[in-house]
Amino acid sequence: MPAWSQGFPHCSGQKQSPINIVTEAALFSPQMQPIRLSGYNLPSSEQLKLKNNGHTVMLRLPATLTMSGSDGQQYRAVQLHLHWGSPTGPGSEHTVDGRRYHAEIHVVHYNTRYDDLDEAKTQPDGLAVLAALLQVGPQKNPSYEHVLEHLEEVSKEDEDTLVPGFNIAGLLPANLSRYFWYNGSLTTPPCYQTVTWTVFNQTVRLSLDQILKLEETLYGDHDKLLENNFRLPQAMHGRRVLASFLVARGPGTPSVPAGGGSPVPPTTDNTAGAGTSGAPEPDDGEASVTPVPDGRARAGAGQGLRPGSEAHLGSSFQAGDVLAVLFGVLFAVTAFAFLVYVHKQRSHSRRLDSLDKPKVIYTAATTEENAA
Ligand SMILES: [Zn+2]
Repeated sequence: MPAWSQGFPHCSGQKQSPINIVTEAALFSPQMQPIRLSGYNLPSSEQLKLKNNGHTVMLRLPATLTMSGSDGQQYRAVQLHLHWGSPTGPGSEHTVDGRRYHAEIHVVHYNTRYDDLDEAKTQPDGLAVLAALLQVGPQKNPSYEHVLEHLEEVSKEDEDTLVPGFNIAGLLPANLSRYFWYNGSLTTPPCYQTVTWTVFNQTVRLSLDQILKLEETLYGDHDKLLENNFRLPQAMHGRRVLASFLVARGPGTPSVPAGGGSPVPPTTDNTAGAGTSGAPEPDDGEASVTPVPDGRARAGAGQGLRPGSEAHLGSSFQAGDVLAVLFGVLFAVTAFAFLVYVHKQRSHSRRLDSLDKPKVIYTAATTEENAA
């Protein structure tokens, strides 16, 4: 992959993808709109071309599928494809807090202000990719089965087949309002740096059999098994990741050690690969890459921050933190007032003593010891 930049200079640029998303460093942007999909529910009479291009499996999408992004821009879908690992390791392109997921789906769109993908792909605002992280869950995912049941028909490079239309939105998470967003590139040559990336916070679950089928069915160059077709995370070069939601910090969330250093990646402690250990998960069979925010976080998003403002997710104070500080200050003030009171009482009694018994030496310590 380092050889890419010899033939494709963009591949060594400063806005490359994928990246490792550091959730604590993401900037909350309340004005970011939920992603809206239109025309994604295709009738089965519509035939879609599924192709093994030697690098991935790609499903061509009709131009009737459109998407409005976080910025309100309209984009038209072109194709979707997948990245995966192998039976011995996960293969998502984006990682979250150092964690790689089993696989990743990319739905590629171009900005409708351009005539077609070819014109748009070299424009700074030309492309938008919706990305979702796939992980193993307990059940077969029926939406993915529409694609996976045809994989054998395209097992060799350059083979293609036709797939009846289905609801393409079913391949993405149900929650399209929580996502990370940043400026990046195509993850394969020519690596044009013209992609606005939307990486959804909610993951999509497939059964272990489905993930294994993806990893073990397709062949690429020289009849070699097509696996681990993901690019490693690229340097940020000062870029910031925005988040459409306030990231809640779960009890199991590792923290950055004082004095720097990189966060400890969450442990993958079970085969199901829960998004974040210890975090509550929704009942709809999908998980999130960050803990599901509780009421406190939502209240903070709705009241504490005005539209247009950006908060530092990692350091934003939540209601619990504020109460803790408040009680701390109250305690300190009370303790100080008490000490002042005791001091005054002592001086007062000392003064009285000296007035009443000027010749007696006052031994307060002894008196107190006796009293105690
Ligand atoms: Zn891709």
